[in-house]
Amino acid sequence: MKILIINSGSSSLKYQLFNTDTEEILAKGLCERIGIDGRLKHNVPGKDAYEANIPMTTHLDAIKAVIDVLTNGEYAVVDDLSEINAIGHRVLHGGSKFSGSVLVDDKVIDAIRECIPLGPLHNPANLMGIEACRELMPNTPNVAVFDTAFHATIPDYAYMYAVPYEDYEQYGIRKYGFHGTSHRFVSKQVAKYMNKPAEELKIITCHIGNGSSIAAVLNGKCVDTTMGLTPLDGLPMGTRTGSIDPAIVGLLMEKKGFTTKEVDNYLNKKSGMLGVSGVSSDFRDLTAAINEGNQRALLAVKMLSYSIKRYIGAYTAAMNGVDAIVFTAGVGENISYMREWALDGLDYLGIKLDKEKNNALASFKDVKDGFISADDSKVKVIVIPTNEELMIATDTKEIVEALNK
Ligand code: ADP
Repeated sequence: MKILIINSGSSSLKYQLFNTDTEEILAKGLCERIGIDGRLKHNVPGKDAYEANIPMTTHLDAIKAVIDVLTNGEYAVVDDLSEINAIGHRVLHGGSKFSGSVLVDDKVIDAIRECIPLGPLHNPANLMGIEACRELMPNTPNVAVFDTAFHATIPDYAYMYAVPYEDYEQYGIRKYGFHGTSHRFVSKQVAKYMNKPAEELKIITCHIGNGSSIAAVLNGKCVDTTMGLTPLDGLPMGTRTGSIDPAIVGLLMEKKGFTTKEVDNYLNKKSGMLGVSGVSSDFRDLTAAINEGNQRALLAVKMLSYSIKRYIGAYTAAMNGVDAIVFTAGVGENISYMREWALDGLDYLGIKLDKEKNNALASFKDVKDGFISADDSKVKVIVIPTNEELMIATDTKEIVEALNK
């Protein structure tokens, strides 16, 4: 089955055409500067990268450009649009409405629209991508895969914030969690390494990238996660604060005269690794700065490592134990010293790192996955590259196949 995967942002749209039979990426690319001017970057494995300026006033224009490059000319990978069996869309926020991926119909569109207050930047863009595909490929089924869905099993005492209950009821103020597709993918993969189904394991998944979150996965079900109502909560990230004392917001507004929008920008874009280090949000720059003796870059990474350690402790308590800890995403997969710092001093919990194995799994090295715990470590620690696109394709295939039965 050939599945087009769409990840639609406010001014960009990433796509991938995936063959689920061979698990092969046929083509992938990116439309940028939608609503500004429009640029397409298209990659077909084994061919030179193709780039073109194509006017893209809306997401509809972007999808048109994607369809055109996939079906026409030198970089085409299908002869006809009808060869694409289904489209899988990444959608940020499903609120409390979705506990899994769904076939898109008018009702689903309405529900995603109702979640816009919870995901004001992403959900409108996700909807534009879905609506453009429905218009241009009316006979092709669309499936929505939500970042929040995997967290739907978190119990109420873990997802509630201690605000007056009526505000939870009226505004939906509660923890939802994000990166669900990644946490689900890697927690399923653990079974292969442990020779045991995920349904019999206690797993802590650490997705550490530009955005970062940790999830506690008990017997295959998520029971807690670090991100909250929005992806700002939890760990300190590239440019986001993570959890802070909420009183800081009032203080900032008072001292700096910030508006709500300015506070939002400060907490989401100016903080985290970038804000503390004053260097960069990118771990390649932070690592270079640390190697040059930059103390603030060191402090920023120590803060992240310590935060990961605290959540590992908390989620071990939440699950009454842990069998496996997974590191994934850009930083989790590549930055071995950060993993070492995060796991340092957790021997009481039965976590013992094999430094050599850990160092072998780093950027620009050939090995990309595997155990980094010592052979006699009670808790296994594993690096597993995430693959959200594969998860979206798998869900889409399952839903579409069930339709045809
Ligand atoms: P996003 O949240 O945007 O999906 P990623 O998971 O791609 O983020 O992670 C981005 C972070 O991972 C950046 O800080 C980047 O420096 C780091 N990173 C990604 N790849 C590498 C690599 N090969 N070596 C070192 N750091 C990397």
